[in-house]
Amino acid sequence: MLCIPSVPPKSVDRTYAYETFTISTSKGLVNLVAAEPLWTAGFGAAIRESKHADSDQAGSLRPRDYPGAAEAIYARRSRRSDRFHIAAIQRLLTVRRSNKLKNKIALEEHFAIDLTIEQSKIYSLPVVWERLKANLLDIEQQRLERMDEGGTAFSILSLNSPGIQGIPNVREAIDVSRRANDVLAEHVSRHPTKLGGFAALPMQDPEAAARELERCIKTLGFHGFMVNGFSQVGSTESVVYYDAPHFADFWNSANALGKPFYMHPRDPLPSREPIYDGFPWLTAATWAFTMETSTHALRLMSSGLFDRNPNLQMILGHLGECIPFNIWRIDNIVAKAPRGIPCKRALGDYFRENVYVTTSGNFRTPSLLSTMLEVGSDRILYAVDYPFESFEDASCWFDSCEISELDRKKIGRENARRLFDLP
Ligand code: MN
Repeated sequence: MLCIPSVPPKSVDRTYAYETFTISTSKGLVNLVAAEPLWTAGFGAAIRESKHADSDQAGSLRPRDYPGAAEAIYARRSRRSDRFHIAAIQRLLTVRRSNKLKNKIALEEHFAIDLTIEQSKIYSLPVVWERLKANLLDIEQQRLERMDEGGTAFSILSLNSPGIQGIPNVREAIDVSRRANDVLAEHVSRHPTKLGGFAALPMQDPEAAARELERCIKTLGFHGFMVNGFSQVGSTESVVYYDAPHFADFWNSANALGKPFYMHPRDPLPSREPIYDGFPWLTAATWAFTMETSTHALRLMSSGLFDRNPNLQMILGHLGECIPFNIWRIDNIVAKAPRGIPCKRALGDYFRENVYVTTSGNFRTPSLLSTMLEVGSDRILYAVDYPFESFEDASCWFDSCEISELDRKKIGRENARRLFDLP
């Protein structure tokens, strides 16, 4: 698959570089250090443009012809007259294509039922809502085809956000969670080799949540559960986080069932977060999701949850919701000023022993590399965030990003197989 963005970047102004390769030119071999946009936009464009030209006539990549590629190339080279032999580049692309990982496991893939679908409407433009809606409601039609096209062999599905967490009426939350889990289980049972499930739980009532989780794991064969941040309980203005003492028994039961849980984002209540007033573009997945979710995760970690349940495993999407980038600083400051923090160990210890992070919606190689350096490639899992992101974008990036093939296999498949005990 050739990765050509629909809108090529105007220029390549980033100077970080993480790949070197050799290109044959009329002046001999040139070692080129390329940034990612050069590969995805520039070379893709070059190949496309040169389809009808042989290598000698392909011409030099002049800035006015290939703005993305040329700026990056000439930024690294002194001779503007060198001709690029496109055939050499094509060979490189062939190598890249063969790297495609076809049996990935994806973990943050969403569906909706009639009772929760409208919750997702605010996360799309009106012109794309009908398609997003159809994709969320569809579980086994085009979803399976798109998984296949993007090289995903198995998806663990979860209800759209905020899902059950956004239903303040406790009775209703319990009923809707049961219904959503039954719908999912029915589809999973028809495609057991392609689909798995995360339970949606009525955290408004921890006892009911524990019972539903047990049903989902033991009877429906689900792989764990997903919570969409805090729960509203009794009123739309209420906010309940799961470090609260009355969740102690719930966490004990979850730990005993031995399956991980996914802490998924939701928006904070506008009444609680005036910092976003007047800046709607900073809410949702732009920024507010990450702040809300990372803070909730840090609350769980620092509350001592993992001291009491040392085998419990939490999954965070979006390359760890910014925590990998900040974990050293968090511990450095806590060590100097603990301010009554109740957990027994450094937060980084829990982060490396009780947390997995996924690639959902964060298809960025420098960020992935930084995360790998912080938590190691054994604790990173592939995920897309379908249908808010596409299998194509995710796989286009992941299948060719500059990591070792061993790490690609671990992140793309093997870590999830181990964590969820999959065949
Ligand atoms: Mn998601």
